[in-house]
Amino acid sequence: MTFKAEYIWIDGTEPTAKLRSKTKIMTGSSAQDVAELPVWGFDGSSTSQAEGHASDRVLKPVFSCPDPIRGGADILVLCEVLDIDMTPHASNTRAALRPVAERFAGQEPVFGIEQEYTFFDGHRPLGFPEGGFPAAQGGYYCGVGADEIFGREIVEKHLDNCLEAGLGISGINAEVMPGQWEFQVGPLSPLEVSDQLWVARWLLYRTAEDFGVSATLDPKPVKGDWNGAGAHTNFSTKAMREGPDGYDAIITACESLGEGSKPMDHVKNYGAGIDERLTGLHETAPWNEYSYGVSDRGASVRIPWQVEKDRKGYIEDRRPNANVDPYVVTRLIVDTCCAALEKADQV
Ligand code: ADP
Ligand code: MN
Ligand code: MN
Ligand code: MN
Repeated sequence: MTFKAEYIWIDGTEPTAKLRSKTKIMTGSSAQDVAELPVWGFDGSSTSQAEGHASDRVLKPVFSCPDPIRGGADILVLCEVLDIDMTPHASNTRAALRPVAERFAGQEPVFGIEQEYTFFDGHRPLGFPEGGFPAAQGGYYCGVGADEIFGREIVEKHLDNCLEAGLGISGINAEVMPGQWEFQVGPLSPLEVSDQLWVARWLLYRTAEDFGVSATLDPKPVKGDWNGAGAHTNFSTKAMREGPDGYDAIITACESLGEGSKPMDHVKNYGAGIDERLTGLHETAPWNEYSYGVSDRGASVRIPWQVEKDRKGYIEDRRPNANVDPYVVTRLIVDTCCAALEKADQV
Protein backbone atom coordinates (compact mmCIF):
# COMPACT_ATOMS: atom_id res chain seq x y z
CA MET A 1 0.00 0.00 0.00
CA THR A 2 1.14 3.59 -0.56
CA PHE A 3 0.39 6.58 1.65
CA LYS A 4 1.44 10.21 1.92
CA ALA A 5 3.70 11.59 4.65
CA GLU A 6 3.79 15.37 4.98
CA TYR A 7 7.28 16.18 6.30
CA ILE A 8 7.09 19.46 8.27
CA TRP A 9 10.04 21.52 9.50
CA ILE A 10 10.96 24.91 10.92
CA ASP A 11 13.06 27.07 8.61
CA GLY A 12 15.84 29.61 9.20
CA THR A 13 13.90 32.82 8.55
CA GLU A 14 14.93 35.60 10.94
CA PRO A 15 13.84 37.01 13.27
CA THR A 16 10.85 34.62 13.25
CA ALA A 17 11.12 31.17 11.68
CA LYS A 18 8.43 29.88 9.32
CA LEU A 19 6.99 26.43 8.80
CA ARG A 20 7.75 24.48 5.63
CA SER A 21 6.53 21.10 4.43
CA LYS A 22 6.66 18.70 1.51
CA THR A 23 5.15 15.36 0.68
CA LYS A 24 6.83 11.97 0.59
CA ILE A 25 5.07 8.98 -0.93
CA MET A 26 5.69 5.96 1.24
CA THR A 27 4.98 2.29 0.83
CA GLY A 28 4.17 -0.21 3.53
CA SER A 29 2.02 -0.02 6.61
CA SER A 30 1.28 3.52 7.78
CA ALA A 31 1.15 2.89 11.53
CA GLN A 32 4.83 3.66 11.77
CA ASP A 33 6.82 4.53 14.81
CA VAL A 34 8.57 7.86 14.30
CA ALA A 35 11.90 6.12 14.87
CA GLU A 36 11.19 3.96 11.81
CA LEU A 37 10.39 6.83 9.47
CA PRO A 38 13.22 7.58 7.05
CA VAL A 39 15.31 10.73 7.15
CA TRP A 40 14.84 12.96 4.10
CA GLY A 41 16.57 15.98 2.58
CA PHE A 42 15.76 19.45 1.28
CA ASP A 43 17.31 22.52 -0.30
CA GLY A 44 18.48 24.63 2.63
CA SER A 45 19.43 27.51 0.33
CA SER A 46 15.71 28.16 -0.22
CA THR A 47 14.87 28.25 3.51
CA SER A 48 17.71 30.43 4.89
CA GLN A 49 19.39 27.27 6.21
CA ALA A 50 22.30 26.90 3.78
CA GLU A 51 24.36 28.53 1.02
CA GLY A 52 23.67 27.42 -2.54
CA HIS A 53 27.04 25.72 -2.99
CA ALA A 54 26.46 23.32 -0.08
CA SER A 55 22.70 23.35 0.17
CA ASP A 56 21.64 19.91 1.39
CA ARG A 57 20.06 19.67 4.80
CA VAL A 58 18.58 16.64 6.54
CA LEU A 59 15.03 16.17 7.90
CA LYS A 60 14.96 13.82 10.88
CA PRO A 61 11.44 12.71 11.93
CA VAL A 62 10.78 13.36 15.64
CA PHE A 63 6.96 13.33 15.94
CA SER A 64 4.20 11.92 13.77
CA CYS A 65 0.40 11.81 13.84
CA PRO A 66 -2.55 11.10 11.54
CA ASP A 67 -3.02 13.70 8.80
CA PRO A 68 -6.55 15.10 9.28
CA ILE A 69 -6.37 17.11 6.04
CA ARG A 70 -5.79 14.13 3.76
CA GLY A 71 -7.28 11.52 6.09
CA GLY A 72 -7.02 7.78 5.50
CA ALA A 73 -3.60 6.32 6.16
CA ASP A 74 -1.76 9.59 5.53
CA ILE A 75 0.41 11.13 8.25
CA LEU A 76 2.07 14.37 9.36
CA VAL A 77 5.74 14.09 10.29
CA LEU A 78 7.44 16.87 12.28
CA CYS A 79 11.21 16.93 11.77
CA GLU A 80 14.38 18.35 13.25
CA VAL A 81 16.77 19.94 10.76
CA LEU A 82 20.29 18.48 10.74
CA ASP A 83 23.47 19.16 8.80
CA ILE A 84 24.67 16.33 6.58
CA ASP A 85 27.02 15.14 9.33
CA MET A 86 23.82 14.50 11.36
CA THR A 87 24.54 17.20 13.93
CA PRO A 88 21.75 19.74 14.67
CA HIS A 89 21.60 22.70 12.29
CA ALA A 90 22.06 26.14 13.92
CA SER A 91 18.32 26.85 13.46
CA ASN A 92 17.35 23.66 15.32
CA THR A 93 16.15 24.94 18.71
CA ARG A 94 14.58 21.60 19.59
CA ALA A 95 18.04 20.09 19.92
CA ALA A 96 18.89 22.61 22.66
CA LEU A 97 15.70 21.76 24.59
CA ARG A 98 16.35 17.99 24.61
CA PRO A 99 19.19 17.88 27.19
CA VAL A 100 17.52 20.46 29.48
CA ALA A 101 14.22 18.54 29.45
CA GLU A 102 16.13 15.35 30.19
CA ARG A 103 18.18 16.85 33.03
CA PHE A 104 15.05 18.04 34.87
CA ALA A 105 12.63 15.26 33.82
CA GLY A 106 12.54 14.03 37.45
CA GLN A 107 10.67 17.20 38.44
CA GLU A 108 7.96 16.31 35.89
CA PRO A 109 7.65 19.80 34.36
CA VAL A 110 4.51 20.36 32.26
CA PHE A 111 3.29 23.26 30.14
CA GLY A 112 -0.01 24.54 28.75
CA ILE A 113 0.54 27.15 26.04
CA GLU A 114 -2.23 29.57 24.97
CA GLN A 115 -1.66 30.31 21.29
CA GLU A 116 -3.26 33.59 20.19
CA TYR A 117 -3.39 34.43 16.48
CA THR A 118 -5.14 36.69 14.00
CA PHE A 119 -6.86 35.89 10.72
CA PHE A 120 -6.20 38.17 7.76
CA ASP A 121 -8.29 38.61 4.64
CA GLY A 122 -5.70 40.12 2.31
CA HIS A 123 -4.20 43.08 4.16
CA ARG A 124 -7.01 43.47 6.69
CA PRO A 125 -7.74 41.49 9.84
CA LEU A 126 -10.82 39.36 9.19
CA GLY A 127 -13.85 41.42 10.27
CA PHE A 128 -12.21 44.82 9.80
CA PRO A 129 -14.26 46.95 7.36
CA GLU A 130 -12.62 48.13 4.16
CA GLY A 131 -10.64 51.32 4.76
CA GLY A 132 -11.53 51.72 8.44
CA PHE A 133 -11.87 50.20 11.85
CA PRO A 134 -14.62 48.18 13.53
CA ALA A 135 -16.23 49.23 16.83
CA ALA A 136 -13.60 49.50 19.59
CA GLN A 137 -12.70 46.30 21.39
CA GLY A 138 -14.81 45.27 24.36
CA GLY A 139 -17.47 42.88 23.08
CA TYR A 140 -15.45 40.51 20.95
CA TYR A 141 -13.70 38.39 23.60
CA CYS A 142 -15.62 35.08 23.87
CA GLY A 143 -18.39 36.78 21.89
CA VAL A 144 -21.19 35.30 19.82
CA GLY A 145 -23.02 36.59 16.75
CA ALA A 146 -22.15 37.68 13.24
CA ASP A 147 -21.48 41.28 14.35
CA GLU A 148 -18.70 40.16 16.71
CA ILE A 149 -17.35 36.88 15.41
CA PHE A 150 -15.25 36.45 12.28
CA GLY A 151 -13.85 33.13 11.11
CA ARG A 152 -15.56 30.71 13.46
CA GLU A 153 -16.04 28.12 10.72
CA ILE A 154 -12.25 28.05 10.22
CA VAL A 155 -11.61 27.85 13.96
CA GLU A 156 -14.03 24.92 14.36
CA LYS A 157 -12.43 23.10 11.43
CA HIS A 158 -8.96 23.69 12.87
CA LEU A 159 -10.05 22.36 16.25
CA ASP A 160 -11.52 19.22 14.68
CA ASN A 161 -8.36 18.74 12.64
CA CYS A 162 -6.17 19.02 15.75
CA LEU A 163 -8.33 16.52 17.64
CA GLU A 164 -8.32 14.12 14.70
CA ALA A 165 -4.53 14.36 14.64
CA GLY A 166 -4.52 13.41 18.33
CA LEU A 167 -3.00 16.68 19.53
CA GLY A 168 -3.46 17.66 23.18
CA ILE A 169 -5.65 20.72 22.55
CA SER A 170 -7.38 21.82 25.77
CA GLY A 171 -9.66 24.60 24.49
CA ILE A 172 -10.35 27.52 22.14
CA ASN A 173 -11.80 31.02 22.50
CA ALA A 174 -12.45 34.20 20.55
CA GLU A 175 -10.06 36.98 21.57
CA VAL A 176 -10.26 40.69 22.35
CA MET A 177 -9.78 42.01 18.80
CA PRO A 178 -12.08 41.02 15.91
CA GLY A 179 -10.57 38.17 13.88
CA GLN A 180 -8.31 37.24 16.79
CA TRP A 181 -8.56 33.78 18.36
CA GLU A 182 -6.79 31.42 20.75
CA PHE A 183 -6.25 27.71 21.17
CA GLN A 184 -4.48 26.02 24.05
CA VAL A 185 -2.15 23.03 23.92
CA GLY A 186 -1.31 21.02 27.03
CA PRO A 187 -0.64 20.37 29.78
CA LEU A 188 2.17 18.26 28.36
CA SER A 189 5.93 17.76 28.85
CA PRO A 190 8.29 20.38 27.33
CA LEU A 191 9.05 18.43 24.14
CA GLU A 192 5.48 17.20 23.68
CA VAL A 193 3.85 20.60 24.10
CA SER A 194 6.35 22.21 21.73
CA ASP A 195 6.12 19.55 19.01
CA GLN A 196 2.33 19.57 19.18
CA LEU A 197 2.12 23.37 19.15
CA TRP A 198 4.25 23.53 16.00
CA VAL A 199 2.01 20.92 14.32
CA ALA A 200 -1.13 22.77 15.51
CA ARG A 201 0.29 25.96 13.97
CA TRP A 202 0.91 24.16 10.69
CA LEU A 203 -2.67 22.85 10.77
CA LEU A 204 -3.91 26.39 11.45
CA TYR A 205 -2.25 27.80 8.33
CA ARG A 206 -3.24 24.77 6.28
CA THR A 207 -6.87 24.78 7.41
CA ALA A 208 -7.28 28.54 6.85
CA GLU A 209 -5.69 28.15 3.38
CA ASP A 210 -8.76 26.20 2.25
CA PHE A 211 -10.94 29.17 3.24
CA GLY A 212 -8.74 31.67 1.37
CA VAL A 213 -7.75 33.26 4.67
CA SER A 214 -4.28 33.61 6.20
CA ALA A 215 -3.40 33.35 9.88
CA THR A 216 -0.58 35.27 11.52
CA LEU A 217 1.26 35.04 14.84
CA ASP A 218 2.26 38.72 14.53
CA PRO A 219 2.40 39.94 18.16
CA LYS A 220 0.94 43.35 17.29
CA PRO A 221 -1.04 42.91 14.07
CA VAL A 222 -2.85 46.25 14.42
CA LYS A 223 -1.03 49.22 15.91
CA GLY A 224 -2.79 51.48 18.40
CA ASP A 225 -5.51 50.65 20.87
CA TRP A 226 -5.89 46.99 19.97
CA ASN A 227 -4.67 44.00 21.98
CA GLY A 228 -1.55 42.25 20.78
CA ALA A 229 -1.27 38.47 20.40
CA GLY A 230 0.57 36.43 23.02
CA ALA A 231 1.41 32.88 23.94
CA HIS A 232 0.83 32.78 27.70
CA THR A 233 2.90 29.89 28.97
CA ASN A 234 1.48 27.98 31.94
CA PHE A 235 3.99 25.93 33.89
CA SER A 236 4.20 23.56 36.83
CA THR A 237 6.38 20.88 38.32
CA LYS A 238 5.26 17.93 40.42
CA ALA A 239 6.25 19.82 43.59
CA MET A 240 4.22 22.89 42.51
CA ARG A 241 1.19 20.77 41.62
CA GLU A 242 1.10 18.44 44.57
CA GLY A 243 2.31 20.12 47.70
CA PRO A 244 2.13 19.81 50.68
CA ASP A 245 4.30 22.90 50.20
CA GLY A 246 3.23 23.49 46.60
CA TYR A 247 2.78 27.19 47.14
CA ASP A 248 6.34 27.58 48.47
CA ALA A 249 7.58 25.92 45.28
CA ILE A 250 5.36 28.27 43.24
CA ILE A 251 6.88 31.31 44.95
CA THR A 252 10.39 29.91 44.39
CA ALA A 253 9.60 29.58 40.68
CA CYS A 254 8.19 33.13 40.47
CA GLU A 255 11.18 34.58 42.33
CA SER A 256 13.69 32.68 40.17
CA LEU A 257 12.28 34.29 37.03
CA GLY A 258 13.04 37.71 38.53
CA GLU A 259 16.63 37.08 39.64
CA GLY A 260 19.63 38.96 38.19
CA SER A 261 19.73 38.88 34.41
CA LYS A 262 16.86 36.36 34.13
CA PRO A 263 14.09 38.82 33.17
CA MET A 264 16.13 40.06 30.19
CA ASP A 265 17.48 36.58 29.28
CA HIS A 266 13.88 35.44 28.99
CA VAL A 267 12.20 38.44 27.41
CA LYS A 268 14.71 38.83 24.59
CA ASN A 269 13.96 35.24 23.58
CA TYR A 270 10.19 35.45 23.94
CA GLY A 271 9.49 36.43 20.32
CA ALA A 272 10.50 39.25 17.97
CA GLY A 273 8.77 42.57 18.58
CA ILE A 274 8.10 41.91 22.25
CA ASP A 275 8.61 45.57 23.23
CA GLU A 276 5.74 46.54 20.92
CA ARG A 277 3.37 44.19 22.71
CA LEU A 278 4.54 44.39 26.34
CA THR A 279 3.85 48.09 26.78
CA GLY A 280 2.11 47.97 30.17
CA LEU A 281 -1.25 48.48 28.44
CA HIS A 282 -3.73 45.89 27.09
CA GLU A 283 -3.30 43.37 29.93
CA THR A 284 0.49 43.33 29.78
CA ALA A 285 3.40 44.27 32.05
CA PRO A 286 6.15 46.51 30.59
CA TRP A 287 8.78 44.32 28.91
CA ASN A 288 11.63 45.78 31.02
CA GLU A 289 9.99 45.39 34.47
CA TYR A 290 9.53 41.94 36.03
CA SER A 291 6.65 41.37 38.43
CA TYR A 292 4.43 38.56 39.64
CA GLY A 293 1.11 38.53 41.45
CA VAL A 294 -2.08 36.65 42.25
CA SER A 295 -4.85 37.14 39.64
CA ASP A 296 -2.85 40.04 38.18
CA ARG A 297 -3.18 40.26 34.39
CA GLY A 298 -0.94 43.32 34.49
CA ALA A 299 1.96 41.29 35.94
CA SER A 300 4.67 39.45 34.00
CA VAL A 301 3.75 36.23 35.78
CA ARG A 302 0.27 35.52 37.16
CA ILE A 303 -0.61 33.07 39.92
CA PRO A 304 -4.26 32.11 39.26
CA TRP A 305 -6.58 32.82 42.24
CA GLN A 306 -7.54 29.16 42.49
CA VAL A 307 -3.88 28.27 42.87
CA GLU A 308 -3.47 30.64 45.81
CA LYS A 309 -6.63 29.19 47.35
CA ASP A 310 -5.54 25.55 46.85
CA ARG A 311 -1.93 26.38 47.87
CA LYS A 312 -0.73 24.42 44.82
CA GLY A 313 -1.00 24.37 41.04
CA TYR A 314 0.79 26.34 38.33
CA ILE A 315 1.97 29.77 37.20
CA GLU A 316 1.30 31.68 33.98
CA ASP A 317 4.17 33.51 32.28
CA ARG A 318 2.19 36.13 30.35
CA ARG A 319 5.17 37.59 28.51
CA PRO A 320 5.80 35.26 25.52
CA ASN A 321 4.66 36.67 22.19
CA ALA A 322 2.36 34.72 19.88
CA ASN A 323 5.41 34.26 17.61
CA VAL A 324 7.58 32.71 20.36
CA ASP A 325 9.40 29.46 19.62
CA PRO A 326 7.96 26.94 22.12
CA TYR A 327 11.25 25.01 22.14
CA VAL A 328 12.92 28.19 23.44
CA VAL A 329 10.36 29.34 26.00
CA THR A 330 9.99 25.89 27.57
CA ARG A 331 13.79 25.47 27.71
CA LEU A 332 14.29 28.82 29.43
CA ILE A 333 11.51 28.27 31.99
CA VAL A 334 12.62 24.73 32.84
CA ASP A 335 16.25 25.83 33.06
CA THR A 336 15.48 28.79 35.35
CA CYS A 337 12.70 27.41 37.55
CA CYS A 338 13.75 23.77 37.86
CA ALA A 339 17.33 24.76 38.74
CA ALA A 340 16.00 27.09 41.47
CA LEU A 341 13.60 24.42 42.78
CA GLU A 342 16.47 21.91 42.86
CA LYS A 343 18.65 24.37 44.78
CA ALA A 344 15.84 25.02 47.28
CA ASP A 345 15.30 21.26 47.60
CA GLN A 346 11.69 21.69 46.45
CA VAL A 347 11.59 18.76 44.05
P1 ADP B 1 -6.44 31.86 30.82
O1 ADP B 1 -7.40 31.95 31.98
O2 ADP B 1 -5.13 32.50 31.13
O3 ADP B 1 -7.05 32.32 29.53
P2 ADP B 1 -6.50 29.18 29.58
O4 ADP B 1 -7.63 28.37 30.07
O5 ADP B 1 -6.61 29.78 28.23
O6 ADP B 1 -6.12 30.29 30.70
O7 ADP B 1 -5.17 28.30 29.54
C1 ADP B 1 -4.66 27.66 30.66
C2 ADP B 1 -3.69 26.59 30.20
O8 ADP B 1 -3.00 26.10 31.35
C3 ADP B 1 -4.35 25.39 29.55
O9 ADP B 1 -3.60 25.00 28.41
C4 ADP B 1 -4.24 24.32 30.62
O10 ADP B 1 -4.18 23.02 30.07
C5 ADP B 1 -2.94 24.70 31.29
N1 ADP B 1 -2.75 24.13 32.62
C6 ADP B 1 -3.70 23.76 33.50
N2 ADP B 1 -3.15 23.22 34.60
C7 ADP B 1 -1.79 23.27 34.42
C8 ADP B 1 -0.67 22.87 35.19
N3 ADP B 1 -0.80 22.32 36.40
N4 ADP B 1 0.56 23.07 34.68
C9 ADP B 1 0.71 23.63 33.48
N5 ADP B 1 -0.30 24.02 32.70
C10 ADP B 1 -1.54 23.85 33.15
MN1 MN C 1 -6.50 31.80 27.57
MN1 MN D 1 -5.88 34.94 25.50
MN1 MN E 1 -3.75 33.43 29.81
